[in-house]
Amino acid sequence: PLGTAERVANWLGARHREQVVHAVDEVSLTVQAGEVVGLVGESGCGKSTLGRMVAGIHAPSGGTMRWQGRTAAEMTPAQRREATLAVQMIFQDPMSSLNPRLRVADIVGEAPVVHGLVPKAGMADYVAQVLERVGLDPVYMRRYPHQFSGGQRARIGIARALAVRPTFLVCDESVAALDVSIQAQVLNLFMALRADLNLTYLFISHDLGVVRHLSDRVVIMYLGRMVEAAPAAELFRQPRHPYTQALLANVPSLASRHKRFAPLKGEIPSPLDPPPGCHFHPRCPHAGPGCRQERPVLVETAPGHLSACHLDSGGTGA
Ligand code: SF4
Ligand code: MG
Repeated sequence: PLGTAERVANWLGARHREQVVHAVDEVSLTVQAGEVVGLVGESGCGKSTLGRMVAGIHAPSGGTMRWQGRTAAEMTPAQRREATLAVQMIFQDPMSSLNPRLRVADIVGEAPVVHGLVPKAGMADYVAQVLERVGLDPVYMRRYPHQFSGGQRARIGIARALAVRPTFLVCDESVAALDVSIQAQVLNLFMALRADLNLTYLFISHDLGVVRHLSDRVVIMYLGRMVEAAPAAELFRQPRHPYTQALLANVPSLASRHKRFAPLKGEIPSPLDPPPGCHFHPRCPHAGPGCRQERPVLVETAPGHLSACHLDSGGTGA
């Protein structure tokens, strides 16, 4: 049976200049093995921070993270090493995350050799297999990153992550820098890999249109808080939170279906000084006096559908 890939992050206090920013504030997220969770919000909402905590790149300053039910403290050193390899992150800009002085063979082959997954003598054969898996001709493995197109570099970044045989990929805006037609190819690759390798994904994007086709479940964040979470089909059919509704009205391909909602207006406030009460109130068409004072809590509005809005909790909103 599949293990449960579970990661819970409660809050993170990251130092930003002299102020403590709660980049992620009381977020609780469990990802099941084999699931694809889309994590969506505008830039500055804390989704990258959450993704980096899940991938083990940032340590949360509070809260709990679990992998297959265990915190790092509850793992043996061998289990910790295994968990570190099992969760890999794929970044937005492969040009800046690929070492320009290394050949593709070393970019992809170094970590599996270091971690003893393949012997040094078998590295070239292994790299060839991994490159084929991501749709790159192994004949290119002697080349350097700058000799590839943006789409090919994205595939090299994916190959590097896959080379250590992860079960869970955290993709942070992994297709955002690519042309739309190339985006579709790379998204198709992610989905083919999911089927072939039984992968679990946390797919982070500012673009609901991108996560729509590949997510089983979608989580919406606003200024460090989770405001809505639902099975993907349900979220796109029946968005509950005014922020989600506004985001949907902003996606050109979805706007006609959601024309009863007003598109998002105004700038996202600074995470250094979030508005009190419901963080969304300055931009919300339904804000009432209670929204400026009281923080709405997540309530289940339908099975598996959570929304944090006073309109849903029968509270003091509009
Ligand atoms: Fe809008 Fe109030 Fe709901 Fe926040 S709690 S989303 S301000 S109605
Ligand atoms: Mg980001």
